[in-house]
Amino acid sequence: MESEGELVKTGGVGTTLLRLSRQLVAQGLDLLYPPTCLDCGAPIASADALCAGCFGRLRPVTGPYCPRLGIPFQHDPGPGALSAEAIAEPPPFERSRSAVLYNAVARAVVSRLKYGDRPELAGFCARLMHRAGHELWGEDAVLVPVPLNRWRQLGRRYNQSTELARALGRLTGMPVEPGLVTRHRPTRQQVGLSREARHRNVAGAFRPHPDLTAKLRGRRIVLVDDVITTGSTIAAVTRTLTRAGAEKVDVISFARVVVGQETTT
Ligand SMILES: [Zn+2]
Repeated sequence: MESEGELVKTGGVGTTLLRLSRQLVAQGLDLLYPPTCLDCGAPIASADALCAGCFGRLRPVTGPYCPRLGIPFQHDPGPGALSAEAIAEPPPFERSRSAVLYNAVARAVVSRLKYGDRPELAGFCARLMHRAGHELWGEDAVLVPVPLNRWRQLGRRYNQSTELARALGRLTGMPVEPGLVTRHRPTRQQVGLSREARHRNVAGAFRPHPDLTAKLRGRRIVLVDDVITTGSTIAAVTRTLTRAGAEKVDVISFARVVVGQETTT
């Protein structure tokens, strides 16, 4: 007759064997389908996103940059100085920060992120965004993804900004509120449109949650987006949120288009 102790021991060995066999299966799959760099396709050691060479071609946004728009300065204009863009057209949000400039490698990352075929990608991007947005995190804030149109989201299976917000939520401990704002009609691509056309394109495209202020309870919003191109979309979402009672909105994105800097290389 087996004693209770032996039964426990047998269970323990069984569990260990199960875990070992799962590991072997995972390793076997890695051998069959070794993880590859999503830009150049070179095999990489672990299931991350980029090989060391392609990672080195990402251009992190580092200071000095405009304290409002987060656009890097070519020459340091001194503390507190705003960019010409922020002075010409003051944004409705307080601060915007981005992890990297939008270049060829960033474009490859974002396009794979959109189609959700590399689940580890959101975590990869969020780690870089976590560093870039260090001034924005805090217990007083809530993460809100820029919404996709419902039909577009159906086609894509998921909203990449929501995945980024969830990954950032895990890193910062901040809550994620995907439903605070919705997009109730599709908008055209903003690139190539005049400033007025961009405003018309996104005006009225977003709707706040009817209980926005109750859900916020005075907290600050950090909007999460994958790429900031012209800034019109995040401005429109911010206006929708502030009109509905949000007091302060900041923005974090993975990539940022900066005219004349790293858009094609
Ligand atoms: Zn590579």
